Amino acid sequence: GSPLLSVRGLRTGFVSGRTTLTAVAGIDLDLAAGETFALLGESGCGKSVAALSLMRLLPPAGRILGGEVRLATGALTSGAALGGMPEAAVSAAGNAAAGIDLLRLPEAEMRSVRGRGMAMIFQEPATSLNPVLTVGRQITEALPDLRGGSAEARERATALLAAAGIADPARRLDEYPFQMSGGMKQRVMIAAALAGEPRLLIADEPTTALDVTIQAQILDLLARLQAERGMGILLITHDLGVVARMAQRIGVMYAGEIVEEAPRATFFAAPRHPYTQKLFAALPDSARRGRVLETIPGQVPSLAAMPAGCRFAPRCAFAFDRCRVDSPQWREVAPGHRVRCHLLEVTAGSSASAAVEVS
Ligand code: SF4
Ligand code: MG
Repeated sequence: GSPLLSVRGLRTGFVSGRTTLTAVAGIDLDLAAGETFALLGESGCGKSVAALSLMRLLPPAGRILGGEVRLATGALTSGAALGGMPEAAVSAAGNAAAGIDLLRLPEAEMRSVRGRGMAMIFQEPATSLNPVLTVGRQITEALPDLRGGSAEARERATALLAAAGIADPARRLDEYPFQMSGGMKQRVMIAAALAGEPRLLIADEPTTALDVTIQAQILDLLARLQAERGMGILLITHDLGVVARMAQRIGVMYAGEIVEEAPRATFFAAPRHPYTQKLFAALPDSARRGRVLETIPGQVPSLAAMPAGCRFAPRCAFAFDRCRVDSPQWREVAPGHRVRCHLLEVTAGSSASAAVEVS
């Protein structure tokens, strides 16, 4: 069917004096209901900025520079967001089947999309929760259609905490975040994110701040909630282990661009982009235990000094002349498996010359 979320040419920058530094340089992605799409990359590659752009929750210097972010209108559970839209916004939003373009929605309407249409959880639950409000208050405030103090709101909050796997939820409602462990705080964040029954959950490194056992529990919880509710999940992570556990499809991000996209099986069996291959080579595994891990030489380029051509060229062992001049285009190498790398363009045209050129 048609995707729940469809992103085309999303570009986001940061304004600094008279210059704008581009952090997300035109990404496309589609995500279906019930599917988990992982955006994988090193820190600083633009994946969190991309996620915040989708929510339109960028920090003050952030600017969306272009593109489209369409969310299926069926994702807005009550239709309240669409019904309340001024006529101009409805036409700007285009036809309902294609979804509304969130980038062109007035902020007041966007506020109702956040929560009901899509919600986000972050790496650090401690900083996303308000330390001086009870857990119950923070969840009831996230309920879109109920007054915070009502008995019904309290009941719904209790049910949400229970759904998020918190034992003795009615008592926990009256506690403050500092009375809870990191894993419990993340469960509270998840409960609050579910309050509006979002069709899309964006999870930005949801387990990175947690220890390994708790990580696994939170990932299991997300998978269970997804199965029960049919939510789409956009999972932002730098962790291949998390990807292996959760994702049906993966997009690898490097320096603001997606450079490879593949279904899970293909991704793990046959990663094709040199950067993705380096990520795998840098993985700690039992065979290499005790030895020095292979790391990727060089650094992610700074936003102010993006190399021309392929952005990975300065770190790529296979780079050849053309890589430093032309930006590689997408090549489909298998069904649903796309790669941006000149090696694959060359191979597609003439494998004999490719062998000579890259050896
Ligand atoms: Fe390496 Fe060139 Fe491919 Fe970029 S396009 S990843 S530099 S081989
Ligand atoms: Mg991040």
